[in-house]
Amino acid sequence: MNDFYMSGGNVLDVRNGDYIRKDLRITDGRISEITDRPEKGIPVVDCTGKYLTPGIIDAHVHLVWDGTSPDPMTDTERDGDYLCFAKGVMGAYNSLKAGVTTVRDVGCNDDCAIPLAAAIRRGYVKGCNIIPAGSAIQGSYGHCPMIGYVANTEAELIDKIKRLKAYHIKMQTPPVHWVKIMTSGGAAGMEDVGPCMYSDRELKTIAEEAHRLNMKVASHALSYDAISRCLKAGIDTIEHGADLDEELLTYMKEHDQCWVPTVGVYKSLSESRGIIADSLVDKATVVKEKQKKAFAAAREIGTKIILGSDAGSANCGAHPFAFVEMYTMHDFGMPADEVLRCATVNSAEYLGIGNDRGSLEIGKYADIVVLNADPLADMHAFTEALDSVFKEGQLVE
Ligand SMILES: [Zn+2]
Repeated sequence: MNDFYMSGGNVLDVRNGDYIRKDLRITDGRISEITDRPEKGIPVVDCTGKYLTPGIIDAHVHLVWDGTSPDPMTDTERDGDYLCFAKGVMGAYNSLKAGVTTVRDVGCNDDCAIPLAAAIRRGYVKGCNIIPAGSAIQGSYGHCPMIGYVANTEAELIDKIKRLKAYHIKMQTPPVHWVKIMTSGGAAGMEDVGPCMYSDRELKTIAEEAHRLNMKVASHALSYDAISRCLKAGIDTIEHGADLDEELLTYMKEHDQCWVPTVGVYKSLSESRGIIADSLVDKATVVKEKQKKAFAAAREIGTKIILGSDAGSANCGAHPFAFVEMYTMHDFGMPADEVLRCATVNSAEYLGIGNDRGSLEIGKYADIVVLNADPLADMHAFTEALDSVFKEGQLVE
């Protein structure tokens, strides 16, 4: 039995944004006790003067892209499925080492994030916990087709969702299972951002079929046309969401739909002139300005936001990218304790893993980041003062 205390640290109560000075007992990977009277004779990890936060959860990554390339889409076509899988192994391990203990992968070639998640769970390779959506479903005129699967008709959409479900079951992915769809163009691509790529009826079919099979749906949607149609169809998360106005943000709040803004990547792309294509920089600059306004409005209205970084995208650097996203959200006016909720407990609950992860509470997996400085005082502690990372009670080495 694996049984020890993490002793003497400042333990973040992420729901309330303050610290408790108690010891955490970790038994077989989960937090079993929070106490100021630790039992004698049990091994102790000394955390005196350190800060313990829940492991970071990034709800939007692409592990098959390594983030260092100016053109990951062409790389994917050149490298093929096996090399992309290996890149995913590397990205998942680098994420974990840095303190990102869970990611939701929202687009890869050949659904390969699903077996990658299984390989990590079974211990074949080391890496963060993965909630894999498989390849992104999209129409022929889609966004990033090399990490997607084309489905144009309702019959094809239903077929793909059923096949995805079957693959999750075969690979024993813990529920909730996610589906990713592409419904507008994007910055990274030559296509027109504007028109929604599926009709209202097709979107409703996607949402109904997925929900019927206890799956949830994430939609890449930047334009007003795509976002508004997705929301009315009952899609669960809006990814990127540049054209979110107050009416749509209010609708989302009322219908428990969630925004994954990915503000860091558009800021990074808008600052990458000379490295990536000019057309991409121009599109990203427009998106960044819209997102900044929508981000402030969402906070005012109380729309649910969870952290997603789009890690792996062009020129944003090796995995992870979650900390840049956290720092950008903070720069956009969100206080540090709220950013941390978006990156942990709120994310876990919305993604469907709230019983197991997202906070340092009894019964949850001991996914813990240990820092040598207070992240509520300065968020950069995550990248400047990292001490160690624990995943499911195991020190990450
Ligand atoms: Zn993405």
